[in-house]
Amino acid sequence: MMRALILGGTADANVLAEDIARAGIDAVYSYGGRTRAPAVQKLPTRVGGFGGVSGLADYLREERITHVIDATHPFAAEMSRNAIAACAETGTPLLALERAPWIKASGDVWIDVPDVASAVTALPDQRAHVFLAIGRQHLAPFGARPQHAYTLRFVDPPEDALPLPDADVIVSRGPFTLAGELETMRTRGIQWIVARNSGGTGARAKIDAARALGLPVIIIARPHLPARPRVESVAEVMAWLGHRTCLGA
Ligand code: NAP
Repeated sequence: MMRALILGGTADANVLAEDIARAGIDAVYSYGGRTRAPAVQKLPTRVGGFGGVSGLADYLREERITHVIDATHPFAAEMSRNAIAACAETGTPLLALERAPWIKASGDVWIDVPDVASAVTALPDQRAHVFLAIGRQHLAPFGARPQHAYTLRFVDPPEDALPLPDADVIVSRGPFTLAGELETMRTRGIQWIVARNSGGTGARAKIDAARALGLPVIIIARPHLPARPRVESVAEVMAWLGHRTCLGA
């Protein structure tokens, strides 16, 4: 009997869950638990870590999972590495649903860096208004460049004090439009952007806005993962599960 586990927390995972629910496939949707009120799903959900590779392997066995779809964010590398290892250990088929990274286009002013630490050092020395479009767990290293005025954007309001002396917080879930991003950058006087190469359309608007305004973007490359089967569309995941897509994604 087929029983799928979706490792989710992304817009793509939500579309996949909708399709899987419509197809009547037995499945569980798993959230990491970082967002206080995650999107409502038609599938049964579970929330929070499994307890590393061994915890996930135990879960796969106990829940009799036959297929794992890793539809987590491309920067959720720990979860993805754990899924590769736990699926190998238990012999569970794994497929990653991973949107393609953005490719630099004409007019983009990109400074490519391999990680957050390099993004910090790539910032200018002179004070600038910087839009830090990264997860809140990666803010602390930017404390080494306190001369800048930072604009941050989170899904939930921050609970703890921020590690940056001059930070302006926008609370919004997205997806974001080009017009909205242009407005944000103009009204806040943004001069530099730090972003991760997440790919996809929902987060793309800030990159398009930066190009339109000629602003430099320090773009953090995706973390390296061991090789794994991967596709870029929900339809390909549905085909892997032996079903046709209902949504045409
Ligand atoms: P991460 O650093 O790779 O994961 C850290 C730990 O959190 C994992 O080892 C796992 O704990 C737990 N975890 C992560 N995703 C999980 C999931 N879907 N279900 C159950 N446990 C999960 O991940 P992250 O960057 O903190 O991202 C957490 C979640 O937020 C993911 O679901 C991701 O898709 C979503 N998200 C992340 C980003 C981002 O920028 N990274 C953006 C949008 C959405 P155990 O080891 O205990 O199993």
